[in-house]
Amino acid sequence: MTEAEWLACDDPIPMIRFLRNRASDRKFRLFGCACYLNLWIRFPVAELYRDVLRASEDYADQRISKSQFKLARKKGDWQKAPHVTGEASMVAWASASACCGEPYVAACKTTRTRPEETVVQVGLTRCIFGNPFRPVAFSLAWRTSTVLALASQMYESREFGAMPILGDALQDAGCDCADVLNHCRGEGPHVRGCWVVDLVLGKE
Ligand SMILES: [Zn+2]
Repeated sequence: MTEAEWLACDDPIPMIRFLRNRASDRKFRLFGCACYLNLWIRFPVAELYRDVLRASEDYADQRISKSQFKLARKKGDWQKAPHVTGEASMVAWASASACCGEPYVAACKTTRTRPEETVVQVGLTRCIFGNPFRPVAFSLAWRTSTVLALASQMYESREFGAMPILGDALQDAGCDCADVLNHCRGEGPHVRGCWVVDLVLGKE
């Protein structure tokens, strides 16, 4: 895949395949979580499964151990929730299993039940992985207390509405990288694992 193809791509699967061995397991896991969390907005699925995804995010960040994560997955066993039916149950099952295995391509495939998911997943891919052809050298001088506070607050709350403000704070700190500033000020979506927020927080 060339950079031009990457930038024009409207299908997450070749993008995610290209990223294999080029990004961390954490990024892929967070991508899988983001795909499923997006579905939860529309599907009336038990809060239980959301907890599995939260646990998977925490596991990605090594905030909980593998055994703690396994325990959370057990609690989210979709078969124990007979009220969840149809497409929603497929999603619940897929999230519980994919988040513990290879979440990346599995997430794309199993959530490809609706065309609009493709659009969402391309956006999530661009948010989490950025442009792999143009890695940004993040200057420590840009990591001011304001920048750090904004990024941490968004990461912990999972609310990324302050991204444009983060862009302004980065610019105030001397950041002149167009890719960084444009990502902050673009339409989003932004999720945990966002490449700019990760750069600020020193996550990979
Ligand atoms: Zn982002």
